[in-house]
Amino acid sequence: MPPAVSDDPLHVAIIGGGVTGVNLALGLQARNISYTIYERSTGFREIGAGIGFSPNAERAMAALNPDILASFKRLANPNGEDYFRWIDGYETGHLIFQLHVGKDGFQGGLRSTFLEEWAKLIPPTAVHFSKQLENITEPTTPDSSKLRLHFTDGTTATADVVIGCDGLHSRVRQLLLSPPVTNPPQPNQPPPSDDPTPAVTDHLTYTHKFCFRALAPMPAAIAALGETKATTRFMYNGPGAHLVTYPVGNNTLLNILAVISDPLPTSNTNPKTTKNPWPHPRHTAPGHKREAEQAFSHWNATARAIVGLLPEAGMDKWGLFDMAEHPVPYYARGRVCVAGDAAHAAGPHLGAGAGMGVEDALVLAAVLGVVGERGEGGEKGDRKKLLERALQVYNEVRYSRTQWVVQATREACDLFQWRDEAVARNSEQFGREITERFHRVWGYDVNGMVEEVLVKLRAAAP
Ligand SMILES: Cc1cc2nc3c(=O)[nH]c(=O)nc-3n(C[C@H](O)[C@H](O)[C@H](O)COP(=O)(O)OP(=O)(O)OC[C@H]3O[C@@H](n4cnc5c(N)ncnc54)[C@H](O)[C@@H]3O)c2cc1C
Repeated sequence: MPPAVSDDPLHVAIIGGGVTGVNLALGLQARNISYTIYERSTGFREIGAGIGFSPNAERAMAALNPDILASFKRLANPNGEDYFRWIDGYETGHLIFQLHVGKDGFQGGLRSTFLEEWAKLIPPTAVHFSKQLENITEPTTPDSSKLRLHFTDGTTATADVVIGCDGLHSRVRQLLLSPPVTNPPQPNQPPPSDDPTPAVTDHLTYTHKFCFRALAPMPAAIAALGETKATTRFMYNGPGAHLVTYPVGNNTLLNILAVISDPLPTSNTNPKTTKNPWPHPRHTAPGHKREAEQAFSHWNATARAIVGLLPEAGMDKWGLFDMAEHPVPYYARGRVCVAGDAAHAAGPHLGAGAGMGVEDALVLAAVLGVVGERGEGGEKGDRKKLLERALQVYNEVRYSRTQWVVQATREACDLFQWRDEAVARNSEQFGREITERFHRVWGYDVNGMVEEVLVKLRAAAP
């Protein structure tokens, strides 16, 4: 029998138009699945800082939609050399270790330009801006199988499945982990504030690290550091802090990330947990170069020269939050799930967070592609069951790898910031520790992951 042709095609609601949401959208587009992105901002927005995408992320982009990878490669900064180098930034200035990143591997670029370029591939009708999700409710009439989305402006929309790509302070995560809600919100609720993001919400912990992010003009960077250091990815390690630098904007800018252990004491006796909260109302707070200069004042001349490139004024400092201490128990329930930072926010130290969101997007696009191929396929309940199973398969395949990345990122930061100085300064030991973690991120069999989900889903399909 030919597959049933549906007059009610599968429709996916994507909450959040960051890296994860946009990659998912383009993956669904490549599979002819109908979707809408609901984004609370007035446009696609990313900050003007750098980001690097690791080789696993590139493979996932290619499998999601070759146009994603093509756009990325067009804008990615060429590597000076295909190595990631770790330097003793505190005393000797010597190379601790270097890792080959592969030909044109782990390239950096500007976040805002990647997102803008990907967004051009999305039809304007598939995005609704200024839509902040507040609630999701189950269908209330037997003739409807659609979930209803409620936005803070009082409007609603429907979809067969809801994917929360809504970042660190995810509303979808809150809904996923609370008991099912059947009643829509009351009208005339107070309007949301401009930025409703509280500094600390459920499942997030301040890692007791904050960072400064800046872009220095390349001529100044070359004058301060020399051409090799300004055009290749480097990290400078030492006690309680580290610096990451790599070129972006077609070698016009040097991206600088300065990660500093908060000098305020942790209020917990277990060094693995960090209870002292971030003392600011939002996860960014006005910062000043002075703080970075102070943190690196005893470091060697190269490290201080990098800090010298930070702007004199107008710099925010970012509290670094993760979900290492309070992981969510699952990523999916019913026909709602979370992906990217909403599911497994990690620190930036392995440069892997956004890549994990791209991998999540690939699995979701693959399983939803199968559901879409089936059409309505009979009773409405069949699609509902298949969607629930699809999200369970997503959860099964993604949970352990992404949870590992969250933990491994914390461990990597300890290595970079010399929690155990003997290991961190020993080329062989540091090299072994760091290679194991990066290779586990980079070497992941992305295509094997897709095969696994398809086998699991087809085996379980109603
Ligand atoms: C300093 C730093 C450096 C990093 N460097 C790297 C790197 O080099 N490589 C790497 O792979 N990763 C890196 N990361 C991690 C990476 O930035 C994140 O993992 C990634 O940006 C998460 O993308 P996302 O789309 O899941 O979430 P987000 O980028 O947070 O996007 C969420 C979107 O959802 C929207 N939203 C939120 N709530 C709602 C709502 N209720 N309704 C509608 N819309 C909503 C938001 O406006 C936003 O647009 C770094 C992180 C930091 C902090």
